[in-house]
Amino acid sequence: MVVVMRSGATDTDVDKVVKAISEVGGDAFVSRGKHQTIVGLVGDLTQFAEMPLHAFPGVEDVIRVSKPYKLVSNDAHPRPSTVWVGNSPIGRETVTLIAGPCAVETEQQTIDACVMAKDAGATILRGGAYKPRTSPYAFQGLGEQGLDILHGVSRDLGLPFVTEVVTPADVETVAAKADMLQVGARNMQNFQLLKEVGMAGKPVLLKRGLTATIDEWIMAAEYIAHTGNLQVVLCERGIRTYEPMTRNTLDVSAVPVAQSLTHLPVIIDPSHSGGKRELVMPLIRAGIAVGADGIIVDVHPRPEVALCDGPQALIKDDMLSLRDTVVRYADAAGRSVAAPSIDHTVGAWGRSATS
Ligand code: PEP
Ligand code: MN
Repeated sequence: MVVVMRSGATDTDVDKVVKAISEVGGDAFVSRGKHQTIVGLVGDLTQFAEMPLHAFPGVEDVIRVSKPYKLVSNDAHPRPSTVWVGNSPIGRETVTLIAGPCAVETEQQTIDACVMAKDAGATILRGGAYKPRTSPYAFQGLGEQGLDILHGVSRDLGLPFVTEVVTPADVETVAAKADMLQVGARNMQNFQLLKEVGMAGKPVLLKRGLTATIDEWIMAAEYIAHTGNLQVVLCERGIRTYEPMTRNTLDVSAVPVAQSLTHLPVIIDPSHSGGKRELVMPLIRAGIAVGADGIIVDVHPRPEVALCDGPQALIKDDMLSLRDTVVRYADAAGRSVAAPSIDHTVGAWGRSATS
């Protein structure tokens, strides 16, 4: 069950609900969203049956959630959420372009890739400083140095950035600089990492595991929400199938399915799913056509010398077509391309807030 508090509910109102639940032996956890607070109730529902929770001050609604995930379910929150990353929205009304290098390799490569991303209309940058590689001999990322490079480039270009964190020990360091934390496919069920990332209070990009069902993916999002952080974006990045022609198989059905079950935005990653440059644009078209709320794409100034995932990176010559494809397909889907909001610029993030 979920108790939805009114937008003007006070802390005392919330405390009264939590106390009443605890008194009958229930477990209550509070999620404070930007506009609304919800109190989740876990326990035997008969315990709560007699409780006049509707009548408590500040309570807007009491909803029975039959799904195993409570806080991210759209039963609890019928309106789709918009997650703000710095000054850029990700939500159901827009299509958000996130782009940048797979990995931060050097400062110049990062500048070049991020300028390409901005030219293509990206409102959020991406880049890996900590890389989860299949081989321990492959480039593992520049770590904190890479994070600093990406942070500097992001602030210079005036665009927020998302970057992956691979271990709970690094969450604090990454969260101090990044505007959004990415949990990669290989870590989707690293529950300790999900909890730590949730508690960092920054928006989270949760990639679907290579062999995860949609239910498992959404339950992983519930782990983050359970910490009180509802700013979660789901990312379909291709799943493992028997087909070797593509790196992974982009599960386009997962987009509308996840959107029908949760209130969270759902985006697609055409780069890590297709694994080939020539597949990126067709997969973007497919993703927007099935209703994806955004696209996260790898770009590189010189993929032939990239230290990670060169074959799938878009190049400078692709940027016009990337911008054009996103605009035209978003329009056909009845959406606009996400643009930075002035309201979220001043004091909320960026140079003025961090320097
Ligand atoms: C990435 O986005 O850099 C990445 C490693 O993706 P995934 O976790 O989806 O493989
Ligand atoms: Mn990559």
